[in-house]
Amino acid sequence: MTVAADARTAELVAFFTEIYGVAPEQAVRAPGRVNLIGEHTDYNDGFCLPMAIERDVRIALRPREDRTVRVASVQEAGRVSFELSTAIAKDASVPWADYVKGCAQVLLEEGVELVGCDLALTGDVPLGSGLSSSAALEVATIHALLTAASVALEDERIAQLAQRAENAYVGTNCGILDQLSSACGMEGRAMLMDCRTLVLEPVPVPDGVSVVIADTGKRRGLVDSAYNERRAQCEAGAAALGVSHLRDVTLHGLRAAADAGKIDADTLRRCQHVVAENGRTEAAAACLRAGDAKAFGCLMDASHDDLRAKFEVTCAELDTMVGIARGLDGCLGSRMTGAGFGGCTVSLVRDEAVEGFVAALEKAYAAQFDLPVAVYVTRAADGAGRLDI
Ligand code: ADP
Ligand code: MG
Repeated sequence: MTVAADARTAELVAFFTEIYGVAPEQAVRAPGRVNLIGEHTDYNDGFCLPMAIERDVRIALRPREDRTVRVASVQEAGRVSFELSTAIAKDASVPWADYVKGCAQVLLEEGVELVGCDLALTGDVPLGSGLSSSAALEVATIHALLTAASVALEDERIAQLAQRAENAYVGTNCGILDQLSSACGMEGRAMLMDCRTLVLEPVPVPDGVSVVIADTGKRRGLVDSAYNERRAQCEAGAAALGVSHLRDVTLHGLRAAADAGKIDADTLRRCQHVVAENGRTEAAAACLRAGDAKAFGCLMDASHDDLRAKFEVTCAELDTMVGIARGLDGCLGSRMTGAGFGGCTVSLVRDEAVEGFVAALEKAYAAQFDLPVAVYVTRAADGAGRLDI
């Protein structure tokens, strides 16, 4: 779907025109995402339920006659110019441009015939908050490069190539959830994602509720080592039960394995979260299909409680934010979202209560932590596509 022009697009067009001395020809956009439920399930071949958010990266573009790509960002300093090739050099002084270069290189490696172009971008997905501004930038970049070259690719393919750019070129080991959500999101829909088959099922988010994302301001420290440890425990649990992934395990099977001494108490608790979370995520999708926002909220609460007590990836800031949210009028459910140890919470809030909810949440959190809190109210947004200019 093409999104109509607005003030942000006008600002982007002006930025492009100022830099390059000529107006852009076209523009594209790709949204960030939030995961509603299904945490630490992706690498266990399980289920998650993300949706695209109403914040995006927008890129204005103009094809060139040569094989040069130039790019500038409204948010980040540094202007970059590079030649299209399968060995594009990184420049440590402009790290954000790696996302753009990585996408170009991956497309060329795939044999896509790109053309040079001038690009200018702007984004309102907060950088580094866990709402996946990086995936939004990658997916938008691929759309921009393809548009300049008049080439079309399927959304799933675009997501895979964006992930490869982040893995192989930028060097971040992310799964495909972020890029798929950004590329394939649908307005008013969350996406039940089967991480084994990568099949997406759109499920309607009921009318009358908003999704409220609250950034605790706590940046994730030590996350890599703890993340790797959790993954290893999940793998050990699956191996002890004779399967490759916890997707194929039941709570009963876990208990039996623990009773037989095949897994220790820590591994048991970690695996119990994953197995229960897969069930919760499928149940949550069923709640959405039935239009039952209240039951959905209860599952969000249960998800957080397991992430805190069994998987142990929350922290005082996340637990406090969730605790405050749950006590406020109109809140149907609240949980941490993302890998944990900091970052954001996500809450489901009745529309009529949102304003008061946001104000009260900010105030109560600020009274306990001296951290910059940011709250984003959103509905499920459309995935990447064209933008009118
Ligand atoms: P997240 O994906 O959670 O926002 P990441 O660290 O994965 O955090 O990605 C953030 C990086 O993406 C930024 O540091 C920057 O390099 C790049 N980025 C995202 N949006 C923009 C933008 N509007 N302009 C320039 N770079 C951006
Ligand atoms: Mg990212």
